[in-house]
Amino acid sequence: MLTIVEQEQGEPHETSLETLTLARELADAPLEVVVFGDEGAGVADTLGAYGVGTVHHVVGDGFDTYAPEARAESVVELIEELDPEAVLAPGTDRGHETLAHVGADLDLPVAANCIAVEPGEVYELSRHRWGGSLTEHARLDAETKLLTAAEHEFPIEEATEPTEPAVVEFEPAVDDERFRVKVERFEESDLEGVPLGEARVVVGGGRGVGGPDGYDQLEELADALGGTVGASRAAINEGWRPHDDQIGLTGAEISADIYIACGISGAVQHMVGTKGADAILAINTDPEAAIIQKAEYAVIGDLHEVVPALNEAIEAES
Ligand SMILES: Cc1cc2nc3c(=O)[nH]c(=O)nc-3n(C[C@H](O)[C@H](O)[C@H](O)COP(=O)(O)OP(=O)(O)OC[C@H]3O[C@@H](n4cnc5c(N)ncnc54)[C@H](O)[C@@H]3O)c2cc1C
Repeated sequence: MLTIVEQEQGEPHETSLETLTLARELADAPLEVVVFGDEGAGVADTLGAYGVGTVHHVVGDGFDTYAPEARAESVVELIEELDPEAVLAPGTDRGHETLAHVGADLDLPVAANCIAVEPGEVYELSRHRWGGSLTEHARLDAETKLLTAAEHEFPIEEATEPTEPAVVEFEPAVDDERFRVKVERFEESDLEGVPLGEARVVVGGGRGVGGPDGYDQLEELADALGGTVGASRAAINEGWRPHDDQIGLTGAEISADIYIACGISGAVQHMVGTKGADAILAINTDPEAAIIQKAEYAVIGDLHEVVPALNEAIEAES
């Protein structure tokens, strides 16, 4: 059982530890992991608690940065050497991308976003489709099973028998051509305030807000409640808000105590980003809008009247 572990400064990412919980469910021997990056070997200090026997640390020019095709080729070389029953990756963008390349290189199927896996000659599995709005039951029949673990579906658990992982350096022979896609630099977002995914209160604005200026009242409400403003893709496409504000399938997932959705219809691609919210308050002129069915609380009315009234009421209370 081989697991791709993502790390930063030698610390494994939480989603990789979640993936190791699944790997231990499937394997009856100490786990093997593959890790990239100059500081990658540092994960060995942590991974003993998770039952990892061997850390394969990929070294060589170009591997300190994210290069999906090159990473995939090194995983392919490891598969040829180790012949694992399965290769698991975290259900992150990078985990999916790397494993998809592995699948393409070896002409093997990939099961993405698994939430339950029953091992055997053929794996029976359940997996998220459409950002988790559907669950698919599927069979994975391949000589080497390639699968990703859906994020936050497997609680991080330590192994009952800790190990002392051996670190094995591995220098694959990867063509330069496989580095044609790689991360060259990072840019810090210049947005201030609490990130959307961490905010306890999120005030979302959609097409119903009507324009960029309409967000002033939403900002005021978010500030008063110690929250952050988000938006639907329609509002982003209109150029009213930056892409960092987008909530949904192709944006951020929120985990707020309350999500106040203003002028948002409740399209499935938007709602998958709000599954982590404890409660939704929808403000919408249309009582038939899909979001009204999905919300715990709703105000049927014009947001340009309701939100200022809320701001005034909060101001009067403080
Ligand atoms: C592959 C794919 C990925 C996508 N990813 C995302 C994603 O990540 N996030 C996302 O949001 N969308 C995503 N979308 C788009 C999604 O399908 C919807 O088109 C989008 O969410 C609609 O945005 P909206 O609710 O703001 O606009 P609309 O659907 O136009 O809804 C506007 C709402 O505002 C209400 N309204 C109008 N005026 C007022 C007013 N004055 N006061 C109160 N209410 C008012 C209306 O009744 C209506 O319900 C994706 C689509 C595709 C195909």
